Amino acid sequence: MVTGRFLDELVALDPEQFDITVISAEGFGSYNRIMLSSILAKKATVASIIQKDEAWYQSNDIGLKLGLSALKIDTEHKQVLLSDQSIISYDHLVIATGSRASKIPAKNLHLEHVIFFRTINDTHLILNQCANTQRALVIGGGLLGLEAAYGLAQQGVKVTLLHRSGWLLNRQLDEKSGKMLQDIMQNMDIEFRLKDEVVSFNGEQSLESVTFKSGDTENFDMAIIATGITPNSEIGLDAGLEGNRAILVDDYMQTSDDHISAIGECIEHDGQTFGLVDPLWRQAKTLALRIVKDEKQAFIQQEVATKLKVSGVQLYSAGQVETKYNNLLCIEDQSAGVYRKLIIKSNKIVGIVLFGDVSSGPFYFDLMQQQQDVSKLLPNLIFGEQAVSVEDK
Ligand SMILES: Cc1cc2nc3c(=O)[nH]c(=O)nc-3n(C[C@H](O)[C@H](O)[C@H](O)COP(=O)(O)OP(=O)(O)OC[C@H]3O[C@@H](n4cnc5c(N)ncnc54)[C@H](O)[C@@H]3O)c2cc1C
Repeated sequence: MVTGRFLDELVALDPEQFDITVISAEGFGSYNRIMLSSILAKKATVASIIQKDEAWYQSNDIGLKLGLSALKIDTEHKQVLLSDQSIISYDHLVIATGSRASKIPAKNLHLEHVIFFRTINDTHLILNQCANTQRALVIGGGLLGLEAAYGLAQQGVKVTLLHRSGWLLNRQLDEKSGKMLQDIMQNMDIEFRLKDEVVSFNGEQSLESVTFKSGDTENFDMAIIATGITPNSEIGLDAGLEGNRAILVDDYMQTSDDHISAIGECIEHDGQTFGLVDPLWRQAKTLALRIVKDEKQAFIQQEVATKLKVSGVQLYSAGQVETKYNNLLCIEDQSAGVYRKLIIKSNKIVGIVLFGDVSSGPFYFDLMQQQQDVSKLLPNLIFGEQAVSVEDK
């Protein structure tokens, strides 16, 4: 995804300056990966999410090598070895290899119908298997796992979602709102197994059952793993670039090699790796400005708000979700299914959790981003943007 955005920036700034080649291990040009969950939920098609087809690359005079992986970088000779054994030379290399679904420490991950959810091909595998599936297990109660479980339920598959923690989206929601989310999704015919983990996938060749840490074994004919992501950083780290969890870049997306930059989920910036697209767009811009115009616009990390792509669920969260020491504003309307919590520290919003009614989310988020003193907006602030008088804003 970040390569697509970076190419847009390059073409807009100066389409003639570079002779560009894109190497893509997948069989497609840039596509909107975010929408894969919507394809599972029958709300989008593969054709509708392709952002740059082969004709786009041709018309912009950009080389595209589809279905080929970069295997090795020779930094001394400035060359890249591809999986068809061909070699490409570069003046400047941009690594944007993203990440992959993380493995889980369970036995028999190799069984057929145990599927990691990341690509168009994974989505095809899942959809093809739906017709033959009585029961599916989705592993991971984060955004991706919840969207996958919802998608499978929309396909008419009986789904159980397994999550290690005590409530869903435990990094983005507090226990109260996590349970509210669970209630709504249970009404969509999704079952939940919390505070448990997979010990082994069982079957001869394909998945037949799953054994859990709690000791239970249950029959499943498909399992989808969506527990987190691992940066595809080996290509850079093996070539000697600095980095720990991912490829280290400075504020201008420069790696430890002057001729190599990196952007997207494969990078590490100021101790952080990335898993949402919002910061990636700004990384693409920073890099394009530097290499096209030699202009230094530093990439700055910013808070990102969480939203879930499940219809019927309204949630919005940013910053801290739990507090021991800070001021807490909270309201709950059980009959309307509305819950709203703001965490305030030194008169500034440092955490937002909204469930059921998210209309004031962007308003609170702006106040948080701008570090605005909200003392004058109290006590009405918790009732939403409309409840705060215009003069006080
Ligand atoms: C189902 C799903 C839903 C999501 N929903 C959201 C959402 O709602 N909001 C949000 O902000 N984010 C969402 N994300 C995350 C978002 O998709 C990622 O942040 C984004 O795709 C990362 O972009 P990227 O370019 O760094 O990596 P990718 O999009 O993964 O692209 C990297 C590409 O590099 C290729 N590659 C890897 N290694 C090599 C190699 N050696 N040689 C050649 N090619 C290689 C990969 O095959 C891949 O095609 C979602 C992700 C998924 C899977």
